[in-house]
Amino acid sequence: MATTRDYYEVLGVARDASEADLKKAYRKLALKFHPDRNKDDDSAAERFKEVSEAYEVLSDAKKRGVYDQFGHDGLRGQGFAGSSAGSARDIFESFFGGGGGGGGLDGLFDGLFGGGGGGRRGGPQRGSHLRVSVNVPLADAFTGTTRTISLNRHESCDTCAGSGAKKGTSPENCATCGGRGQVQRQQGFFVMQTACPACRGQGRVIKDPCDDCNGTGKQAASADIEVRIPAGIETGQQLRLPGEGEAGSQGAPRGDLFVVVQVDDHPLFDREGDHLICEMPLAFSQLALGATVDVPTLEGMRQLKVPAGTDSGKVFRMRGQGMPSVHGMARGDLHVRVRVETPKKLSARQRELLEELAELEDKDVAPEQKSFFDKVKNLFD
Ligand SMILES: [Zn+2]
Ligand SMILES: [Zn+2]
Repeated sequence: MATTRDYYEVLGVARDASEADLKKAYRKLALKFHPDRNKDDDSAAERFKEVSEAYEVLSDAKKRGVYDQFGHDGLRGQGFAGSSAGSARDIFESFFGGGGGGGGLDGLFDGLFGGGGGGRRGGPQRGSHLRVSVNVPLADAFTGTTRTISLNRHESCDTCAGSGAKKGTSPENCATCGGRGQVQRQQGFFVMQTACPACRGQGRVIKDPCDDCNGTGKQAASADIEVRIPAGIETGQQLRLPGEGEAGSQGAPRGDLFVVVQVDDHPLFDREGDHLICEMPLAFSQLALGATVDVPTLEGMRQLKVPAGTDSGKVFRMRGQGMPSVHGMARGDLHVRVRVETPKKLSARQRELLEELAELEDKDVAPEQKSFFDKVKNLFD
């Protein structure tokens, strides 16, 4: 199913093509291969899907960046699944400003290719997209996880198969507008087209509505949907599940479901891209004498060698102990920032030793302290 041809090649543009170049190329190809114009040609539908997918990726700066760097695999790794047949039409409609379902599209073709009959409004409409957000702990973002999302959405009504008409009957063409959904009205010199008041632009009327859905053709239902969240996911990234949105009307395809991921804060680790940052309190004696300390990572404890004479605030980089990348490439690092912890409570013995140390230090001031006091002295001279 996934396209393996190069997206730039599909659109016939150079790798440094501008946004305007892409638009121009897509406009030309999408109109040429649109299924409504090539009803007997299956290969046109394939090409239409292909150019739509290529345009969708290359027109999105973020996706284009991932594609340029990592190719098709990179996009799949990011959870940008290949376009389904339904979404190719979606891309097309949003590009040409159809938006309102089949009507806008028919109008477009009429206008461009001189088809008669005028734009028919109403008709089957693709279901709306849904958006939900999901919180995951950092540990799950580290390993990748699956979540079951419960949501309320509309399904096509079983009783009337989505038509809205009582079982055994079917919607009829509207007599007022002849099924076109629009009526013409003379206003001065102009002929205005407006939505038909009798059918509210639907083109069809339901004389005997279905009891189960009151003629809407849809029923509210709850659904549990499993979402795979890739390892390395970051707050704000979204996953798209094609065809998991609201049901379309009159047999039109479903909308998509977008899952926006929020990664929870962690008590030990801050995150910067794929790197993790951890602050670690150590005793002055450990920094002064050097020590091997246990450092927490998301995979358990690791040992870190702190050399003698380490300053408080020094950052140690532990390679590859950070987050995995969504691109499936190298892992980030863990940055361990050590900080001296001043004891708040001292035992008698500790106090005794520290006092002894203080006495010694008074006689033998440490190098940095010595130069500091030299500077202070210069300030007042
Ligand atoms: Zn009508
Ligand atoms: Zn029904």
